[in-house]
Amino acid sequence: MEQSGEFLTTDLGSNMLTIFLIFIAHWYLSLFVQTFFLHRYASHQMFTTSKFMEKVFFVVTLLAQGSSFLRPSAYALMHRDHHKFSDTEKDPHSPVAFKNIFSFMWKTANEYRYFTDLALERKDDKSLPRWTAFENIADTYPCRIAFIVLYILIYVKFAPSYWYFALIPVHILMGPVHGFIVNWFGHKHGYRNFDKLHDKSKNTLFIDFLMLGELYQNNHHRFPTKNNFAYKWYEIDFGYWIVKFFSKLGIITLIK
Ligand SMILES: [Zn+2]
Ligand SMILES: [Zn+2]
Repeated sequence: MEQSGEFLTTDLGSNMLTIFLIFIAHWYLSLFVQTFFLHRYASHQMFTTSKFMEKVFFVVTLLAQGSSFLRPSAYALMHRDHHKFSDTEKDPHSPVAFKNIFSFMWKTANEYRYFTDLALERKDDKSLPRWTAFENIADTYPCRIAFIVLYILIYVKFAPSYWYFALIPVHILMGPVHGFIVNWFGHKHGYRNFDKLHDKSKNTLFIDFLMLGELYQNNHHRFPTKNNFAYKWYEIDFGYWIVKFFSKLGIITLIK
């Protein structure tokens, strides 16, 4: 059956838009759980929440990060060491010693496994959020593979051409991709408000529209427990806006 050219063009346009929206939604949802739940809550304990809401955020973290789900407890231990040993040999994810991104990401992946074991050993550490029964399903290969299959099916359904399949690896590795951008650029490229810090942290963007405030690494390393990562009048920490919004709704209680 012959279809009109106009129909095909409209269809192609709407599918391109669908893929674009899916990509943006996944990018920011995954980023939200990383900055809000894994970083500000699990690692730095900047706010508290009820046990029920903590479980809700566990579920949202799995839905958002999918195949690249990270255990909050392992992330927290790894990240606390990043602050303690920033840009030294003991820093679990400093880009300073690496020449290329692959060796950097490979090392971080191995570090994550190490910190997962450590978090499991420290059963009584109350500073680490955990939901063992849930994580023992989320942090497994079958669960990760199920999400990968879902991403592929979404692209088979909506991608206007096979070229778009090149984006699938980004969906699969969304968590590590964000971790890479923050830790690589945030400790290599940008400006410093606080020059006397001994690490190499930088503020990468004047207005961090890309990473919800995570690219103000220099400000954050200077004030690691401060909820607002912005410091100068022209800097905007959108992640902090979300935190404030959730606090207004009564979902969380700010403590720092
Ligand atoms: Zn850092
Ligand atoms: Zn931090």
